[in-house]
Amino acid sequence: MNPTIEAPGFASPASPCALSVIVPAYNEEVVLPIFHSRLVAALAGVEGGWEVIYVNDGSKDGTLRVLKELQQADPGIGVAALSRNFGKEAAMSAGLKLARGSAVILIDADLQDPPELIPEMVQVWRQGADVVNMRRRSRQGETWFKKASAHGFYRFINWLSEVPIPEDVGDFRLLSRRAVDALNQLPERNRFMKGLFAWIGYKQVTIEYDRHARAAGETKWPYFKLFNFAIEGITGFSVVPLRLASYAGFLTAFFAFIYALVLLVKILTVGESVKGFPTLILTILILGGLQLMAMGIIGEYLGRLFMESKRRPLYLLDEYQPASLSLSAASP
Ligand code: UDP
Ligand code: MG
Repeated sequence: MNPTIEAPGFASPASPCALSVIVPAYNEEVVLPIFHSRLVAALAGVEGGWEVIYVNDGSKDGTLRVLKELQQADPGIGVAALSRNFGKEAAMSAGLKLARGSAVILIDADLQDPPELIPEMVQVWRQGADVVNMRRRSRQGETWFKKASAHGFYRFINWLSEVPIPEDVGDFRLLSRRAVDALNQLPERNRFMKGLFAWIGYKQVTIEYDRHARAAGETKWPYFKLFNFAIEGITGFSVVPLRLASYAGFLTAFFAFIYALVLLVKILTVGESVKGFPTLILTILILGGLQLMAMGIIGEYLGRLFMESKRRPLYLLDEYQPASLSLSAASP
């Protein structure tokens, strides 16, 4: 399937509504009703109709029940449920596949991304932007360690990656239909979405906003998960670590060669000596460490290759009850 080359900003004839809002939700039963009322209030000003697609990512609490109740009351809601917890990236991918709007907004359910910004995002899209990135001017309710590690991560990945990944831009963003179609075409399992959003290119506009603390519930991102996420992002978007491993190899080989020459000259001139145990043990340890590290790096990529080669779907849909658009969509 080819991506549509239609210009952004207009409702396409193929799209039954102007805007689809995708909300991945994992154990968010507490916050969803508040979230939804704020979202609907914000959507009131959006012309051309909208749908909200909630993707229940295998929640263990009553999220799905709450979503179905919301749907009973509001036909503009579509509820999709994945067959288990596949992770936010997969839930977003599912939403992107299901979305029917001419533009799509991805937003967190925890009210950290204020829904009140949606009209402004839509306006920027109507002015011709394909991707509207939302940059956090401030992060409230997050520890200095999280802020610092996030900053460091963006610096590092931008140093590695070929396409610049905008710093402090989360998943909260608007995508035009052709941007969504482009994303849907990417077959890889490694859904480092921040990188994929940047990779597709097109006209990107960035808006700044203040990120709030979670309204209720707690973050699903313990640090070790964030660390793994960082490694995934790096290895999914760059082969620079492999090159660094090669450089480290060349460099050590180079020094080893020089050292070998020095030793040779020394043996021929001054004669042999049995001293040098520290040198020996250090060389063995350093080289061993370097080798293991390089092997680990190769292993990361090999593992990735293995996962990709299985060609499994990104997620499995358990059920999907789409929004009934005839009711929610006012004609433009
Ligand atoms: N989420 C999800 N699946 C998961 C983890 C999170 O769909 O496995 C959703 C979650 O319900 C929320 C969004 O992704 O809507 C962001 O999650 P969270 O607030 O925990 O992340 P943080 O804001 O701390 O980065
Ligand atoms: Mg959050």
